[in-house]
Amino acid sequence: SSAVSDPVGHPSSEETLHRHFDAIPAATSAPDPITGFLSRNAGLQAAVALMADAGVRNARLCAIWLDIDRFRRVNESFGHVAGDSVIARIAERIRSIVGLPCALVRMGGDEFVVLAPVRDRVAATQLARQLLVEIRLPLTVDELLIRPSASIGIALEQVGEEPAAWLERADRAMLEAKRRGGNRLALSGDELLTGRLGVQLAREELAIESTLHAALENGGLRLHFQPIVGRDGRVEAVEALMRCYAGGHQIAPARFIPVAEKTGLIIRLGEWSLLEGARCAARLRARGTPTTMAINVSRAQLLSPRFMHALHAALVCADVPARLIELELTESLFLDLSPTVQANLRSAREVGVGLAIDDFGTGYSCLANLKDLSASKLKLDRSFIAALPEDRRSFAVVKSMTRLGQELGMAVVAEGVENHSQLAALTEAGVDASQGFHHARPMPEHGLLKWMARRAEK
Ligand code: C2E
Ligand code: CA
Ligand code: CA
Repeated sequence: SSAVSDPVGHPSSEETLHRHFDAIPAATSAPDPITGFLSRNAGLQAAVALMADAGVRNARLCAIWLDIDRFRRVNESFGHVAGDSVIARIAERIRSIVGLPCALVRMGGDEFVVLAPVRDRVAATQLARQLLVEIRLPLTVDELLIRPSASIGIALEQVGEEPAAWLERADRAMLEAKRRGGNRLALSGDELLTGRLGVQLAREELAIESTLHAALENGGLRLHFQPIVGRDGRVEAVEALMRCYAGGHQIAPARFIPVAEKTGLIIRLGEWSLLEGARCAARLRARGTPTTMAINVSRAQLLSPRFMHALHAALVCADVPARLIELELTESLFLDLSPTVQANLRSAREVGVGLAIDDFGTGYSCLANLKDLSASKLKLDRSFIAALPEDRRSFAVVKSMTRLGQELGMAVVAEGVENHSQLAALTEAGVDASQGFHHARPMPEHGLLKWMARRAEK
């Protein structure tokens, strides 16, 4: 094959050189004398501090990694003094675009990183585009007009991510922008979504993301409620399930919850559902039918230091006793050893809310490992129930999971009960309660009230 063409797009020699340049040892913590920006080490410390701080704000952090295109040529043609003055002037432009509370870092040579809190990916991209436009303004060096440009990589901080890993994603996105010819932006995460299908998926996700934002602001969110029925036929609890409406139609949780989790929006959505669920519980109590409200909580919420704050706020605002609230968490969360999750689970227990292990059986945890857990309820995933009553193996599994769960002090609930013969098998297996279309579909609050009234008559 030819040595000249490089169809797979390996880094050009300029890029290779550029990486060498970057490998110059990092400066100490003193600010960079040419730009006044933080040095690389101080920048990493700032990233850690901002990450700790952003958890309590309503924002995500984005890292914008900028690399001046063809900067080596400036240095070669004009010398290092002129090169430094170009760097200083570009730094000034960056400073003029981003306000506080941001961190501005010079990573070395012609590379800069901006760390800034933003609302979402759209806002991060807008900020990066503004930077690109500003940097492109013509500049005079030794009476010659040059037109600088930059390659920019953007990475939004992911929940639980190490600062170094986060910055590295921004760096990789920048290299991707450079590989595509420079003078452009690249967003980390999008490189996985290439090709026609990928573009379509990315577009759909962006559309869902902006719908969720709009729904949060304009009241497009609703809770539906599905009863959980005890062996004796009493309503043991009600599960709150989120609904999102856009332009007259509903988006399924299976579509919007993953997007919300990926973008961090789940934190705000989750706070909303905690508050609305608690309010409904308070209304049920005021009507003389106190009922436990089960509310779904995602991992990202429990990883946030402000989780307990949101839980307290919901209990206080709704004026509902903690024992009427139960949090549904997937089983893997109970095995999560991260200190924030552990502390949040413990505090939630101490406040007096119940904890339920949701979708049990879909993860890989063994019930025995869950023994010192603080959960009071075990919800068997509906995949086990779907095979009932014919499949004797499923029946045996359900029966033994039920016995073990009960021996560990938990009430056992079967999910997704769709017909009478499944219910009969579950009663035989000894479950304490069941939930599913057989009893009722999730419904709006007024529907739930009617359903409860009809049952009370019987
Ligand atoms: P989940 O927590 O396992 O909720 C039960 C799901 O099973 C609900 O789907 C419910 O409508 C459905 N379901 C109930 N009975 C039956 C049945 O008999 N047969 C079948 N085939 N399905 C049944 P939904 O409402 O679409 O919610 C899907 C998932 O979205 C939930 O699964 C939960 O993981 C998540 N989700 C919903 N609301 C919230 C929320 O407020 N916060 C968070 N973090 N996640 C939520
Ligand atoms: Ca659930
Ligand atoms: Ca479930």
